[in-house]
Amino acid sequence: MSWDKQTQKKQGKRKSKRFYGIIALEIIILLVLFGAYLIFVKSKADEQDITNTKDDTSQSDKEETDEIEDTEDTDDTDDTEEKLSPEELEALAEQERLKKEIKERQDLIVQADRLALGYDYDKAIELIQGYEGLEGSYKVYTTLIAAIERLETEKSALKLYGGSYTSVTQFNHIFFHSLIADNAKAFDDDSKAKGYNMYMTTVSEFSKMMQKMYEDGYVLVKMSDIAKKVTLEDGTTKYVENEIYLRDGKKPFVLSEDDVNYYPYMDGDGFASRIVIGEDGIPTCEMLLEDGTTVTGPYDIVPILNAFVEEHPDFSYKGAKGLLAVTGYEGTFGYRTNNPDSPTYEEDKETVKKVAEALKADGWEIGSHSWGHKNMQIESIDLLKRDTNRWLEEVGSLVGPTDIYVYPYGVDIETTIGPYSSDKYEFLKECGFNFYLGVFKDPWMHVKKDYVRMTRRPLDGQALLEFPDRLVDLFEAEEILDPERPGKNW
Ligand SMILES: [Zn+2]
Repeated sequence: MSWDKQTQKKQGKRKSKRFYGIIALEIIILLVLFGAYLIFVKSKADEQDITNTKDDTSQSDKEETDEIEDTEDTDDTDDTEEKLSPEELEALAEQERLKKEIKERQDLIVQADRLALGYDYDKAIELIQGYEGLEGSYKVYTTLIAAIERLETEKSALKLYGGSYTSVTQFNHIFFHSLIADNAKAFDDDSKAKGYNMYMTTVSEFSKMMQKMYEDGYVLVKMSDIAKKVTLEDGTTKYVENEIYLRDGKKPFVLSEDDVNYYPYMDGDGFASRIVIGEDGIPTCEMLLEDGTTVTGPYDIVPILNAFVEEHPDFSYKGAKGLLAVTGYEGTFGYRTNNPDSPTYEEDKETVKKVAEALKADGWEIGSHSWGHKNMQIESIDLLKRDTNRWLEEVGSLVGPTDIYVYPYGVDIETTIGPYSSDKYEFLKECGFNFYLGVFKDPWMHVKKDYVRMTRRPLDGQALLEFPDRLVDLFEAEEILDPERPGKNW
């Protein structure tokens, strides 16, 4: 290599070094610029975001304000508040509180009137007397004083047994079995159809009966309303007729339903399958459909009567509904709590307890209809003892204590209408039963020292088709009969 070449080479190296240096600088400048651009773009985007959020916030603020304005029906609240002094604001708030209180008192009177409609004037008046407002007790509010005066006047016009009877022994006690909710399935000519035609009532017939009895002034009372135990001077007790005060022309009556067990033999025949507690906490009925699904609704007496009383509070004395009589050999209320091998045994027992509690809280009473549904007049006292103990153990332990015994087949333990004196009675009395219910075509009742004995009138297909004359004091059978029911076929 010559010097020149070497020099050229050196110069060339120097030249290319400078060249690369410039390129590198340019790249750095470009990177810096690009970085700056990115930061700029990002900050722009953030700004945009903030603006959007701000827009959203102001939008939702506006919606809330609109809602408040809609609810309170006031315009330009914000403007007013801006202009008002603290004193004026306080006065406005006070006005609002007063308005709220007036509404509270109006609601209280509505609530009291509903209690009064159900003949519970004492509770209605007590409810109003318990009121405390900003200005003091109920006594300082003229609307409340006026309401109490009106209720007192109405109460003083009430009559013993509505003026219709002179004694509880004249009361009607009517009874049913599970209602037929699907006529086509019950009256389908199978081996059970004739029995259903004789002993059951359809939903349509029951509803018509309730409507007619309501129109005629009948009012539901509980078994426990009609007699009470009093303590005499010598310390002994005895049952006496209770006093029931109703509006003029009203007539007390008791309603019961036997065998509220939804026995398996009724499956697929158009009956409810069990009692459940509805979403509102009120007991209702469930029915199993052919495809295996269940529906909840008015398929038996409990939900139907509940709805009727809800609509007509004056059909029920102090919230009374009916008496439900249950056996034990196939469980209770449609739950097979008789069978410890059932996979849902423990769960079902808990459910029955809850259903019974809910029923009682809603005005229903529960009675024993024996465990095995035997004719206790002809059965031995030993069987009565075994049967009763089993009912108390398997059913009473779930539905709670009861002192009402509803005879299977309506057959009394004694054949005379004299005072009870048999060992069977002594045993049942020892078990805690005080009310004994049989079946007879007319109202009949004894209020004795240690017990109350009453008969009940069946309002079933047999009564409607075979003995319509026995019902004329209540209704004309033709007006009640379900057109889908077969004629007398027994
Ligand atoms: Zn029965």
